[in-house]
Amino acid sequence: MLQKNQIIPLKITDITHEGSGIGHYEGMAVFVPNSAIGDSLEIRILKVNKTHCFGLIEKIIVPSPDRIQPACPVSRQCGGCVFQHISYEAELRYKQRFVEQNFRRIGGIFLEGEPIEASPQPEHYRNKAQYPIRKQDGMFCTGFFAPRSHRVINCEDCQLQPPVFSKLIKIIRRFCEDNHISAYDEKTQKGLLRHIYLRRGAHSQEMMVCLVCNGHTFPKSDQFIQTLREIDPNLASVLLNVNQENTNVILGKQTKVLFGKPAITDTMCGLHFTLSPHAFYQVNTVAAERLYAIAAEYAGLTGEETLLDLYCGVGTIGLSMAAQAKNIIGVEIIPQAVQNASANAAANKIENARFLCGDAGEAAAQLAKEGIHPHVVILDPPRKGCDSITLETVAKMCPERIVYISCNSATLARDCAMLQTLDYKPVRYRPVDLFPRTQHVETVCLLSKLRTEHHIKVDLDLGDMDLTSAESKATYDEIKAYVLEKFGLKVSSLYISQIKRKCGLEVGENYNHPKSENTKVPTCPPEKETAIRKALEHFKMV
Ligand code: SAH
Repeated sequence: MLQKNQIIPLKITDITHEGSGIGHYEGMAVFVPNSAIGDSLEIRILKVNKTHCFGLIEKIIVPSPDRIQPACPVSRQCGGCVFQHISYEAELRYKQRFVEQNFRRIGGIFLEGEPIEASPQPEHYRNKAQYPIRKQDGMFCTGFFAPRSHRVINCEDCQLQPPVFSKLIKIIRRFCEDNHISAYDEKTQKGLLRHIYLRRGAHSQEMMVCLVCNGHTFPKSDQFIQTLREIDPNLASVLLNVNQENTNVILGKQTKVLFGKPAITDTMCGLHFTLSPHAFYQVNTVAAERLYAIAAEYAGLTGEETLLDLYCGVGTIGLSMAAQAKNIIGVEIIPQAVQNASANAAANKIENARFLCGDAGEAAAQLAKEGIHPHVVILDPPRKGCDSITLETVAKMCPERIVYISCNSATLARDCAMLQTLDYKPVRYRPVDLFPRTQHVETVCLLSKLRTEHHIKVDLDLGDMDLTSAESKATYDEIKAYVLEKFGLKVSSLYISQIKRKCGLEVGENYNHPKSENTKVPTCPPEKETAIRKALEHFKMV
């Protein structure tokens, strides 16, 4: 049994979705942050659980060929990046694998993905940054929160932000120090400046600086604006957002214009968009344009279709496809985003689009009642995916194709499995890297309606089928992988066969029965039984 602080040798053979390397020691899975597949390491055990443990790198004995020198000096302390220590080519390989594993393990979908689309810019790609401001150890700190903490890691040269953000943040910090502007303190709820929010149009270059303040005024604002304008001639908007609540939510409700416009504009897929601080907008514009182009290819529009864009945000996806469709209906739950979407349509002189405010599933049901049957449905939900009612409602609308865009391939795989039961077959998918160096990746998946009239019903006598041992072994491995992934439990083939028998499933005649009368056979503990039953249900075996 491994002990805390024990030093062990470890070879990293796999990596988790959060970017932690995995190795095995005496049958135990060991998770090691900041490691890479192929590393030979010396590990100090940090924490031991029943089925797995966590360790920290003590020494790199042989580095993985994927390793590079991190470009960021605070990459290990800051929570933002998990792949600074490996090459971008390796990161893409890992991400392709995560998505494929999720389809297989969670969705039971064995479909090879199309090659991951790399971000045109693997660094400096973000168009928005929100820097928390704190006074720590007598210092005015601007940077990012450390993982699971409210301690700010001072970082002014983040590799993900454009260089102009670093220039601005340095100047703002100096201005605050020189003018004794106080930093917000969460404990006492005193101090003025809470966050500095920067947003820039990737194509327009228009720059917005928004000061999130625990108050209604910012001292010496004229002098402040003058200083900023000298740094960036593209400065188009300086805002003061008032947030006096005791909350983790960054932006408050009220925003005042200190200089320029209340919102900046940018172009995306050749269309103009107005961006207020609250408006949702993909952070990597150029990669998002690639994402939308792939979604458009999957949508296969000819100009005759009604397109339903569910979870439409400010309408970017639907509007980018409006010229290829007969009409577009967007649905979004946040009223302000719906207003922005309508304004964006008007600003681009798009007349075949309308936007509804409401829950995606409810709005789809309402549209179906009105007799609207879209040919193509776009789904682009938040990380938690769609609820089953929404998926059922969409399937009832009988679109030819569903294009599902997701920032969480685990819920995507779950929802695709559900859509499969509703006669929608996943036919192709492609990961798109909108967030290089972080653990996140987008995926676009095309699901096609199965034409029941084209399917022939075949009655099979299962007795005629020869289930080879290879097939049944694969099933056991799948069950094991599912139970480990979902419940963090390791289960043996013996336990699986016991539960299969309990459920009345066919198990090889002598399979895992005791070899002799006297042999003691361990029985599956209740916790593992529940997990195996869930897996059998998941794989639709019971
Ligand atoms: N498609 C947009 C936005 C995707 S983000 C784009 O590419 O820019 C997901 C969006 O779903 C957010 O705007 C969020 O406000 C919205 N949303 C969340 N829950 C929803 C629901 N139940 N019904 C409709 N929209 C919802």
